[in-house]
Amino acid sequence: MFTFSRALCALGVACAVGTAHADNLSPAEERIVASVRANAPQAMDLLERTVNINSGTMNHAGVREVGKIFAQELDKLGFKTRWIEMPASMQRAGHLEATRTGKQGKRLLLLGHLDTVFEPDDPVQKFERRGDRIRGQGISDMKGGDVVVIEALRALHKEGALDNTTITVMFTGDEEDAGDPKSISRRDMVDAAKRSDIALAFEGTVVVDGNATGTVGRRSSSSWTLEVKGRQGHSSGIFGQGTGYGAIYEAARILDAFRRELPEANLTYNPGVILGGTTTSFSESNMTGTAYGKENIIANTTLVKGDLRFLTMEQAVRVRAQMREIVAQSLPGTSASITFQDSYPPMAPTPGNMKLLDIYSKASADAGLGTVAAYPPGKRGAGDIQFVSSYVDSLDGLGVSGRGAHSPNEDLEPASLEKAAVRTALLIYRLTR
Ligand SMILES: [Zn+2]
Repeated sequence: MFTFSRALCALGVACAVGTAHADNLSPAEERIVASVRANAPQAMDLLERTVNINSGTMNHAGVREVGKIFAQELDKLGFKTRWIEMPASMQRAGHLEATRTGKQGKRLLLLGHLDTVFEPDDPVQKFERRGDRIRGQGISDMKGGDVVVIEALRALHKEGALDNTTITVMFTGDEEDAGDPKSISRRDMVDAAKRSDIALAFEGTVVVDGNATGTVGRRSSSSWTLEVKGRQGHSSGIFGQGTGYGAIYEAARILDAFRRELPEANLTYNPGVILGGTTTSFSESNMTGTAYGKENIIANTTLVKGDLRFLTMEQAVRVRAQMREIVAQSLPGTSASITFQDSYPPMAPTPGNMKLLDIYSKASADAGLGTVAAYPPGKRGAGDIQFVSSYVDSLDGLGVSGRGAHSPNEDLEPASLEKAAVRTALLIYRLTR
């Protein structure tokens, strides 16, 4: 029906916030949105139940228990659920996977995680309302995001809109500290991505100036090891013929050249630990070492460990070549080598990811929740979606909004749960038509 307020909306005059822009939603979509909203109190109860179970990455029983609760919900929505065990040597709880298969629309992979950074002896509060916020272990990172997935699917199920769709839900048990080797701990996720067209991940929605954003790119986390050798000798001969510059000056030259020559957007490289002298030892497992040397001896060895964060593999290949070139320009009497270790591949902000964000933004606007812009990719740390983003179009940051993730003050902005579930339900609906 044509109403006065809708006429104002059409003329671009401010519409009531939170009211669906009904002209832009189909009748089925309107019912789906209403269904998400109607179930909001139960959604908060589900979140409370799961937040009150400690599921630190190393608390395997807790991770499994949270997984069991979400599995029960997904069973009710017609998914086939299974628990994926990890080898005992990996010391991780495993993952929850839920699948349904059909022939309609895009095949989706929905990513969440069951674990939190808070282990059982951590003093962080359980679910606790504080004024207009709610505190709790992993409430926004990311049990809230998991509940967004469940609630969006519940509303779609009620409408019969999941029929004949292909959707895989993967809630990992070790996102906060992924088990090694990652070729095993992320194998099932990569396999699921290969059976999908699109991956959506439910890490927190970052709100900038009151507007929700979406994550179209995340930087890699990778590290490097620089080993420098010099000729040991009497300090009085430093810079001289035969003795040379020593390993410590050579390491300083290399690091300073990195600082001066490498800067570019979305790239950082940080030396985190350095050891130099006549003998050094270093333990990778606890990142601790010792160095021995004397003021009157030219150092013959230096070790530096650092990280390198980049947005695309092209950038990584190019910058690593530059670093190798700098390393190779040895001062007299020295030599050096650098090696690189990958941990999380980057999620590059591809055109496919941007297109996905457009669909999400339109769904949000159509529901009266405002458009959604891209969050600057260089600003987000590593996340699970990076293991699959090279296979499928990907979008992250679709979960709840909160402050202080990983800190004792981690909290939730309660209204963000419903908003994220509305946006997600519409996005999944449109992608699977
Ligand atoms: Zn997380």
